[in-house]
Amino acid sequence: MSRKTAVVTGASSGIGAAAARALAEAGFDVVLGARRTDRLAEVAAAIGGTALPLDVTDEDSVNAFTEQVGRCDLLVNNAGGALGLDSIAGADLDLWQRMYDVNVLGTVRVTKALLPNLVASGDGQVVVIGSIAGHQPYPGGGGYNAAKHAEAALTRVLRMELLGEPVRVCEIDPGLVETEFSLVRFEGDRERADAVYAGMTPLVAEDIAETIAWVATRPAHVNIDQITITPRDQAGAQLVHRRK
Ligand code: NAP
Repeated sequence: MSRKTAVVTGASSGIGAAAARALAEAGFDVVLGARRTDRLAEVAAAIGGTALPLDVTDEDSVNAFTEQVGRCDLLVNNAGGALGLDSIAGADLDLWQRMYDVNVLGTVRVTKALLPNLVASGDGQVVVIGSIAGHQPYPGGGGYNAAKHAEAALTRVLRMELLGEPVRVCEIDPGLVETEFSLVRFEGDRERADAVYAGMTPLVAEDIAETIAWVATRPAHVNIDQITITPRDQAGAQLVHRRK
């Protein structure tokens, strides 16, 4: 049988890059999308994958990307992230809009465009990288919490709407994973980003990638609906054990 194809959004760093590597290891041909094409090309070259420019917030970019995807057995909607940690009183609505656009509408744009390919594969799968922030709100998390709650909602709706179609839907919700996530959230402020993981052992991108590959390789009749993965040192969005 010919190899299955996986499409991974946001594959230029962190969880997406690790997922691309894990899926290639599991036998998939991998198509990688992100905006930083130099970084993307490096990840793709190491695994024999295909790097294509993708901005999930731009309809034309999504169309140009998905038009180049032929077979698609698995879509990993990973592109996303948080911007800022402002209270609602001090909310910067531009940041809220950008978080909604990338995490929610970005997932919808790419999923909508690739659904025909996923159905045509005869055994398609959509994996959405949500967050514990999509289930547990926290002070300062308003914009990101709202976006990830919305992403969780659309994932559940998708699962219901695809019932009867040969497409599985899974939401994976990580807790603290040390990637570029906090650096992006705090606009490159390294000290502030490092403080997020101070005194505790966070997850690494490979921990989530292994789970994505596991979900992707279950038998066709098995739908893993939702998985939450946290570090041992984290028992809630803001309940973190830190060593002195
Ligand atoms: P990361 O290292 O910052 O990776 C984010 C990825 O998303 C990058 O490859 C980035 O690539 C891509 N991206 C951002 N905006 C994009 C856009 N408009 N179009 C296409 N790609 C875009 O952070 P990460 O931790 O791996 O984040 C991956 C996912 O995990 C996100 O959805 C995040 O919300 C979720 N998550 C992370 C954590 C955590 O603690 N790290 C916890 C829970 C959930 P370019 O900049 O090159 O486009």
